[in-house]
Amino acid sequence: MGDLLPCPFCGSTAYPAKNGWNWLIDCEGCKALLGMFPSEAAAIAAWNLRVPHRAKAAPSRSLAEQSMRAEAYRFGVWALAKADEAEAASKGGQHE
Ligand SMILES: [Zn+2]
Repeated sequence: MGDLLPCPFCGSTAYPAKNGWNWLIDCEGCKALLGMFPSEAAAIAAWNLRVPHRAKAAPSRSLAEQSMRAEAYRFGVWALAKADEAEAASKGGQHE
């Protein structure tokens, strides 16, 4: 549980939360939600998925990362699309 990284949108702390049978990640800052997942571990893994590539600013996405992102989309991870939008927007304006 201590492995959950800060929110990539606002940097706030995020928490795993259970909604019925499903798990999601809830940011306390910007209220970003990531879900739904069949387990807490899956939710945390998906939440952490896109932080490293943004933090390290890798020149291009690896095949492994691309497939991981595609897998995440199949779980209905709409927040990843939001992250891409934010990333694209930040390239035209302020950094970070
Ligand atoms: Zn946030």
